[in-house]
Parts: sequence; structure tokens; C-alpha cells
Amino acid sequence: MDKVIGIDLGTFNSCVAVVEGGTPVVVANRGGYKVTPSMVAVTEAGKRLVGHIAKRQAVTNAENTVYAAKRLIGRKFDSPQVKNSITTAPYRIVEGPHGDCRIQLRDRVYSVPEISAMVLQEMKMIAEDYLGHEVSKAVVTVPAYFNDGQRQATKDAGQIAGLDVIRIINEPTAAALAYGFGKNIDRTVAVYDLGGGTFDISILEISSSGVFKVVSTAGDTFLGGEDFDQRIIDWLVAGFREEHGIDLRQDRMALQRLKDAAEKAKCELSAVVETEVNLPFIISSARNEALHLQRLLTRSQLEDLTRDLVERTLQICEMTLEEAGLEKDEVEDVVLVGGMTRMPKVQDAVRTFFEREASKGVHPDEVVGLGASIQGAALVDDSPEMDMVLLDVTPHTLGIMVVGGYFEELIPQNTTVPTNRSKLFTTVRENQTAVKILVLQGESRRADENELLGEFILTGLRRAPAGQVEVEVTFEINADGIVSVHAKDVETGKEQSITVTATSGLTGDEIDDMMREAQDYAVARRQDEQAESTKQEAETLIAEIERLFPEVESVVAGSDFGRDAIDKARGVVDKARELMERGDTAGLKEQIEALARTQRMFKGVVGKTA
Ligand code: AMP
Repeated sequence: MDKVIGIDLGTFNSCVAVVEGGTPVVVANRGGYKVTPSMVAVTEAGKRLVGHIAKRQAVTNAENTVYAAKRLIGRKFDSPQVKNSITTAPYRIVEGPHGDCRIQLRDRVYSVPEISAMVLQEMKMIAEDYLGHEVSKAVVTVPAYFNDGQRQATKDAGQIAGLDVIRIINEPTAAALAYGFGKNIDRTVAVYDLGGGTFDISILEISSSGVFKVVSTAGDTFLGGEDFDQRIIDWLVAGFREEHGIDLRQDRMALQRLKDAAEKAKCELSAVVETEVNLPFIISSARNEALHLQRLLTRSQLEDLTRDLVERTLQICEMTLEEAGLEKDEVEDVVLVGGMTRMPKVQDAVRTFFEREASKGVHPDEVVGLGASIQGAALVDDSPEMDMVLLDVTPHTLGIMVVGGYFEELIPQNTTVPTNRSKLFTTVRENQTAVKILVLQGESRRADENELLGEFILTGLRRAPAGQVEVEVTFEINADGIVSVHAKDVETGKEQSITVTATSGLTGDEIDDMMREAQDYAVARRQDEQAESTKQEAETLIAEIERLFPEVESVVAGSDFGRDAIDKARGVVDKARELMERGDTAGLKEQIEALARTQRMFKGVVGKTA
């Protein structure tokens, strides 16, 4: 049976988990961390860095280090959210060929799914290192509020990374799965998820028969930890301007340092009540003096600066409960997800709002990845303990544009998926052979205020008098939350061809090219790792032999045979060093055998005299 990994592809951090022997476990990366920064960088030498190593060099290479690509995925270049990122991100966001946005790193432009694919590929490799074999299937999570374009782009990212994304699931739903898995409970649960970039709230009914049913979900894809950081940055910038008359925002390096310091201060204030932000040599004055930034920030100041953000999450909770037709006291448990829920004020606000303590025992950083792995295992494993059903809902209303620029609803928000609705279209002109349909997602009555998913043109209709041809168009939302459209001539039953002309996604050819490149990277990376581990092995053996040399020499140098053995040993070590210098990994691998023999022989000699 194929192992399916579960990946929580976060805005700032990602996490990978896998079910082993019926228990979901988070896989730590090489550094021993259970979460990996969702960061990608390209160095001056053109080397790709992902995860912690990308994060560590972000300050000195800010323009070529991408973080929060999730905020851009599946979005159009001219969307307000992308415009916002263009002004705040230290890296360059440019327009792509499909009206999408792309990211320039040094002299190359990358699509956003390609950047996310680099993170997914890293998570895949972390799992492979742990499992000791390749994996090809994954369940990837997305914020519940992601629309079709964002889901599709996330799926594309998986494909580029060499992963068959067998299911996309919503983060709060994944969290609920991890919370309720194996517990045999019947309960109504709220999952409050405040992460680095997004806020989601979902209300679920969990039943002891293993059904996880989402009743209602809502969120804001532009409300998260980064907004809290931004408030601190604004406050620091304003204070510095008052003191020195200089706007720190002009300086990219200073801005990146401020960003790091703001996040650090925010996290510290979850544990202590005041902290000092200290950034020496942040900028030079007009007279070329080095200026420092030093300010004390208290927890209550932070709470004042961010009060409206916390308030906004509660308003969304209120709306969701209303949608679900539930009173607050009908929610029997609250699960907190996302790094931001460590902030005491957030915990307080949630406690006050729901009038109960949040559930303990679920780790906010790991719970989503664990849930994804549980869903992954359930999809391929039909043993009774993995028997469960996930019933999620669509977070947006799906509809089409009708005369007058209005939006006609086809599948309402919070409908359980998978689902489909059909609609009859009738020709309005004689011999009309095509009908154009605009498919949109959103809650506004005006079509242009909703997200355009695609423009579908039904072609090849029968030639007939006006009103004589009826075409049944079926709109479908699958379990991944991805929309597709089919059409059929009612009289003849003939399927109509549908052409998509206005998506902001990638073409199949583009994805193929990106996949090939990702594969080449994986091969090169594995070779590098192998070279590194061979080198380390050789170095350990050499160090051991060198350590034993004096002692061995003193024991055996008296005989010709002994001297000969010593010379040979020197030769073995010298040759290994030479191979190492030349970077000849294959040669070094062979030489390791000779080094190991020498080391054994030396140990034997020393052992006998001991
Ligand atoms: P996530 O997207 O769930 O990984 O959440 C990341 C967000 O949580 C970032 O904005 C972090 O700064 C924030 N975060 C992590 N730890 C803490 C903490 N101890 N206190 C406050 N915020 C935190």
C-alpha cells in the first residue's frame, strides 16, 4: 500500500505527517524541527535554498527570499491582495502571462505554484528521509476560504513537486480530524485557526461513527500574524520618524530587520509582559552617523495596537455561528490552531466569546499536518480503524453572470461537497452555435464584484431556430473544492465541448516544464546529499586513523612489515584526501572501504597492546 503523506502548506511554516501503525506522527526535518519555514531563496551563485537555511539568510538576501507565497497563490496580478503584497514584500512581484502574478528572484521569474512546489518538494524529501523510500501521494491542506483558483494552483504546485495530490482538504477540517480521530465522540466543535497569513473558523459536527461534518465555515485570507507584525512595524517606524525624522521604510534591509524584530517581539510577548526591540545600526543619518533603534514594547501596548484584528476574528466567528444556526453555548469544544493562538489576548478573546476554555492536547502547529495525514491514510486504507467520512462544505457561492451584470447563484455557500447543479440554457438566435458562460465565485449580487473562475464557451451547438436548442450545463464542485463544468445537448444527449479562456492558472505545458526542472533539482540535491554524507564518513574515518597513528607507529615501527603497513595506511589516507579535494564522490566511496580496513587494523593493533 502506498504511503500518503499529509502536508500542511502554511503561509510561514509547513509541516509533514504520516500515519504509521494507525497513529499519525509529525516528521521532523534534518535539523530536528517539526515545522519548516515556507521560505525559498536563490543565492548569488544561483543556488536554491528552502526552509530554515532560506530563513537564516533572509536579512542579507531579502530581495531574493520569498516568504508568504501562499498569500499570492492562485491570485490575479491586478487583485487588491496582490497590490498590497507588492508594496510590502521585499521581493519583486511581476505580472505573468495569464494575468497571474509571478516572482522575480535574481534573473529568473517563477510562477507562484513553482515556489510553493519547492516547499512541497522539501516536505516530500523530509518524509522520504524518514520513511526510507520515495513517496508520490499527498493530501495537502488549504485555508477553508480558498477559492477555486487558489485550490487549483495549490494542486498544480503539488504536481510540479512530483506529488499526486489525492485530496485537498481545509485546514480547520484537518484540525478537527486530528482532534476527533480515534476518540469516539459525538460533539459540535469550533476550530479557530489564526495562522501567519490567514484566519479561518469552522463549525463541525463529529459523530462517534466517524463522520466529520462541516456545518459552516468562514474566514479571511488576509488576516493573520503578519498583520500583527505590521502593526508593530508601523509603531516602530512612527517612533523612529518622530525621534530622527527618517522613514525606515525606504531601506529594504532595515525593513527586513524590522520585520524579524517585530515578529520576535510579538512571540516573546506571549510569554513575558514586556520586551525590548533592539536594532543597532539600523540606518545612517544624513550626516552619516549610525543610528540605532531601541524601544520597549509591553504586552498591553501590543494588545492595543492589534485590538481590531482580534475583534475582526470574533465578528467572523459570530457570522459563522449564525450561518450554522447555532448559539454559542451549543459549541461543545473549541480547538485552537495556528501559531497566533499562542498570544494570550487571542486565547482570552476566544474564551470570552465562546464562554469556555479551548481544548488542550492539540498542538497548534502540528494538528493540521496530522489531520492531513489521517485523511491520506483513510483514502487508501480500508481497515476499520481508518474508517471515516469527511463531509466538507464550499466556502463560496458558485454562480454565473446573467443579463445586466448580475450574479445568479447556482451552488450556495456552505453546501456539502462534492455536489453539482444543472442549469438549462436555451439559444436565443436562429442557428446560434455557441453560448458564452462566465462562472464566478463570491457573495456579491454584482457579477464583477465576484471572482471570475473561468469563461466557458459552449461550441458546436446544433443549427436550429431560436429557442430550439436546450443545453444542460452541470456545475460540479468536487471533494477538493475544485469546480468543473460539463454541458450536454438535451435533445441529442451530445456532450458539448467547453473551452476555458480566462483562468489565471498555468498551462499543462508550463506545468510539465516546471515538473522536469523540479525532478532535476531533486536528483541533484540527492547527489549533493550523498556527496556530503560520503565526505563526512571519510572524514570521521580519517580522524580516527590519525588519532591512532602515533600509538600504532610506536607499536609496529620496529619491523619492516610494520613500517610497510604504516606507509600503506598513509597512502590510503592521502588518496582519500585527494579524492575529497577533487570532489570525486564515486572514488571516495570506494576508498571508504580501504579507510575502514585501515581503521580496523589500527584498532586491532592498539587493542592488542592495551
Ligand atoms: P502558522 O501559520 O500557524 O505557522 O502561524 C505562524 C504565525 O504565528 C506567525 O505570525 C508567528 O509569528 C505566530 N506565532 C508563532 N509563535 C507565536 C507566539 N508564541 N506568540 C504569538 N505569535 C506566534
